[in-house]
Order: sequence, then C-alpha cells, then structure tokens
Amino acid sequence: MAEGYDYIVVGGGSAGCVLANRLSENEAVRVLLVEAGSRDWNPLIRVPLLATFWLRKTYHNWGYATEPESHLNNRRVDWPRGKVLGGSSAINGMVYTRGNRGDYDHWAQLGLREWSYEKVLPFFRKSENFEEGESEYHGSGGELPVTRTPVRDERYDAFIEAGQQAGYPKNMDFNGENQEGFGRFHFTIRNGERWSTARSFLTPVLGRRNLSIMTGAHLLRIVIEKGRAKGIEVKQGSQTKLVYADGEVILSCVAITSPTALMVSGIGPAACRPGAGGAELAGSSDNPLRARMRSTGQSL
Ligand SMILES: Cc1cc2nc3c(=O)[nH]c(=O)nc-3n(C[C@H](O)[C@H](O)[C@H](O)COP(=O)(O)OP(=O)(O)OC[C@H]3O[C@@H](n4cnc5c(N)ncnc54)[C@H](O)[C@@H]3O)c2cc1C
Repeated sequence: MAEGYDYIVVGGGSAGCVLANRLSENEAVRVLLVEAGSRDWNPLIRVPLLATFWLRKTYHNWGYATEPESHLNNRRVDWPRGKVLGGSSAINGMVYTRGNRGDYDHWAQLGLREWSYEKVLPFFRKSENFEEGESEYHGSGGELPVTRTPVRDERYDAFIEAGQQAGYPKNMDFNGENQEGFGRFHFTIRNGERWSTARSFLTPVLGRRNLSIMTGAHLLRIVIEKGRAKGIEVKQGSQTKLVYADGEVILSCVAITSPTALMVSGIGPAACRPGAGGAELAGSSDNPLRARMRSTGQSL
C-alpha cells in the first residue's frame, strides 16, 4: 500500500485524537490516524465507576509492567496504558488538571518559547467546555466537557478542612491562577459518562472525507529515506503494510512507545539502534531490539 497522506498520526490516544481533529480541519490536507487498539465501541468505557476495572484487564490496556524493581523487593510494578481509540483517556481517572505553569515556563526558558503557559493556555481553553462557562482560565466552546463532581461526601469535605487545619489553602479551582491547596478536582465527565478524547474530538469528525483511521494497526517502524521520515511500516492483522506521508509522520503513541519507535527506526542512542540489542516495540516480537519493559497485552 503506498497511499500518500499529508500527515500520518501514529497513536489514537489523548494527543492523537486531538491532532487528527485539528489537522483535518483543513480540507486540503489528508490525515491518517493509526491506532494499535480497536474502535471505542465498548460501552463500558463510558462508565466512570469502572475506571479501576480496566487496570486489571489486558483488553483496552497494554498491560505493561516494569522490570523487577530492586528498591521494591524486586516487585514488578503494573504500568497500565490505554490500547483503544482514546488511548489512556479511555481508561484513566478522568481528573482534568492542566500542567503547572512553572513547568511550561521552564520549557520556555530552555528555548521552547511557544510552550510558555501564556502561549499554551489559549489552546487549553479552546478545547474546553467548562460547565461554569468562560473565564480567564476556562473555555466554554470546546469539545472536551469539564465538570465539577456532583458527588457530595462529608469525608471529602473533612479532608479539605483537614488540609486547611494543617495550614494549606483551600483551592476550589486547580485550573485557575494557582494550583496549590486542598480542594475538589474537575473531571472530563458529563451526564455521568466518561468523555475520552476519542468521544470528544474524533467521533464528531468521523464524517470528514480527508480523515482516515486505521485501527488494529501496529506501528513497526518509521520508514526513513535520505534522512527524512517518509512513512511507516505497520502490521494490521497478518499483513504488513507500508504507508507513505508526503508531509509529516507524527508520533503520539505515548511516552513509552514514541521514543521506542524512534529507536527501532534508527534514531537515538547508537546502543539502541537495530541490531545493537536495546529496545523493541511491544507486540512486534520479530523486532531485533529488546525493551526494558515487558508487555503482557495481547498481540494484534
Ligand atoms: C490508569 C490511568 C489513570 C490515569 N489518570 C489520569 C487522570 O485522572 N488525569 C490525568 O490528567 N491523567 C491521567 N492519566 C494519564 C493520562 O491518561 C495520560 O498522560 C494521557 O492519556 C497520555 O496521552 P498520550 O496521547 O500521550 O498517550 P495515550 O492516550 O496512552 O495514547 C497512545 C496511543 O498510542 C497507541 N499506540 C501505542 N503503541 C502503538 C503502536 N506501536 N502502533 C500504533 N498505536 C500505538 C495506544 O494504543 C494508544 O491509543 C492516567 C493514566 C492511566 C493509564
């Protein structure tokens, strides 16, 4: 297969669904979203109370575990990651709290000027549909529902009060000016249902003719020609396919897999390059490299 896309986005999780939405706004560009997991057909994904249920499952969850940790009596620590459209936002705790202003500003100081808090805040606000409406720190016209929990529990109140008694401020808006203190979280839940990024950003634009989605498609490597990423090799079912990008290949397959994908494609530390025995993309057992993580998740 040698179709040309302007953008190939690999990983249809929190980041990938937003990217697929925003990039395909421009009808002139062709976007392909590649996801190893399935469509998010499973109605159980929508049930907030089942968030912990997915941690013990290996469907919709890669089921990673660390190597034995010497400081933890050699225990392996479970490391869940979503494997479905929506990615980890389909199995996570749904707490909506932005990163800390100080971290973004630190990145800006290091040279990433477009990543200061002032620069990224408008993009957060653009994505949000906050139930209490628009303000300096909140958006109301976006795709992602952001709500306060309607749950009232006196133990919750007692916990916040205990924080105050210990000398900490009460903070009822961790997405406001200041993140410090004890208070209640915001959630990406609406009408009692989880709103993953697939549901918020992808489902509404499935009709776009310039947006294609491959599910059950496992990235094996990035195809690099003359020093440029020209496409990807994916395994879908028993077939291995090459898909080409006229423009860019964007990796959004989580902080574990994106760097591993670079390394198995020959980008990164020489010791991790193919043949040198360093990393492996989970599920691609024929890959020559080995990872310092194991996947108990099912293969394709
Ligand atoms: C159990 C749990 C609870 C959490 N709770 C919260 C919370 O309450 N609040 C919060 O803010 N954050 C929470 N997080 C963290 C948050 O969900 C993640 O930081 C975020 O979803 C990461 O987004 P991402 O796009 O980088 O990766 P993901 O959303 O994980 O998406 C990566 C996608 O890439 C796909 N992929 C991976 N490898 C390949 C491959 N080889 N080929 C093709 N596709 C591939 C995956 O299947 C997945 O769909 C939680 C995470 C977990 C796991």
